[in-house]
Amino acid sequence: MTGPFRRQTDRMRWQDVDLLAYKQQGTAPFRDVTRQVLFESPALGCQLRYFEMAPGGHTTLERHEHVHAVVVQHGRGRCLVGTRIERVAPFDLVEIAPLTWHQFRADDDAPLGFLCMVNATRDRPQLPDAEALAALRRDPAVAAFIRL
Ligand code: MN
Repeated sequence: MTGPFRRQTDRMRWQDVDLLAYKQQGTAPFRDVTRQVLFESPALGCQLRYFEMAPGGHTTLERHEHVHAVVVQHGRGRCLVGTRIERVAPFDLVEIAPLTWHQFRADDDAPLGFLCMVNATRDRPQLPDAEALAALRRDPAVAAFIRL
């Protein structure tokens, strides 16, 4: 077990924290994303993760019952939440409510890294089916933004 202090060892890397794949390849569409689990506590019932996209990378377009509290830490990009697309940069805060479609995209010339707090026990993300995609794409800005 590690002690209470975990030094940052490198840019957005921490002592005794493994650099993991964002998700298992082939389970969902995403591009150039890494995951680090910084903290998990049964007492709090939460997990704190750090995700980072390389330039041009994106997370999965998904939704789920559990919520996310996101705080941007590094780089810049854009984020879709519901039908809103906003630019994000350190230390913007993004709250993703239950069953709200969301996707993060790094700019083409910058990474994008953020902390994300979630329930330790949570439902699996849902991917959009054809009907949900068609509904999302009715908004031209959303249609242009989303990556699958
Ligand atoms: Mn999510």
